[in-house]
Amino acid sequence: MTENRHSEPTPDLSRVCVFCGANPGGRDEYRESAARLGVLLARRGLELVYGGGNIGLMGVVADACLEAGGRVIGVIPESLVGREVAGAPVEHDGITRLEIVDSMHTRKARMAELSDGFIALPGGFGTFEELFEILTWAQLGFHRKPIGLLDVADYYAPLLSLCDHAVAEGFLRPEHRALLLDGKDPAALLDDLTCFQSPDLKAWVRTEREL
Ligand code: AMP
Repeated sequence: MTENRHSEPTPDLSRVCVFCGANPGGRDEYRESAARLGVLLARRGLELVYGGGNIGLMGVVADACLEAGGRVIGVIPESLVGREVAGAPVEHDGITRLEIVDSMHTRKARMAELSDGFIALPGGFGTFEELFEILTWAQLGFHRKPIGLLDVADYYAPLLSLCDHAVAEGFLRPEHRALLLDGKDPAALLDDLTCFQSPDLKAWVRTEREL
């Protein structure tokens, strides 16, 4: 990912990065949606890029994609490799390719570089952080790739409201708010990502006259 504004056109979608919880969450719908997304990616011939874990929703989306015949690339920092959760290493040893990188920062940059679009499933701080960093990079014009939020069981309703509130309060431009696509159905959200055309964005700060 370069930091040149709008250096690349909106790419065709062939690899999709999924950000999601290292925990499974407390509702069946979370696992079901993660599995549905993994299968859909495989059926549409889209490669999955993700955090390389075999735990929580990360493991669910990766396993579902692999079982449906898809390709899965994991990117994991060396500090997490070999760590164990419930007696098993956190990294997934059955995926198509596991890239081990030197830090969490490098991991995010590498996942962004590999991918043509991004989807956040329900998750915690790690997922929020990954989502907002990739949105910030879009807002700054460092890339023109589509970004979607899969709002399973209204999990993200408070976050979507916060984004609208930020617009109302003058901290977010409406056109930047619009960079975050959202939907409840994985297939429809993937369609939206596929059709997305990045707008030509103005400067990301408002001038005093606009406030
Ligand atoms: P969270 O949403 O806080 O559960 O964090 C999940 C996100 O952070 C994933 O998209 C991963 O990229 C990363 N992450 C957090 N914990 C792990 C872990 N134990 N193994 C691999 N990736 C992780």
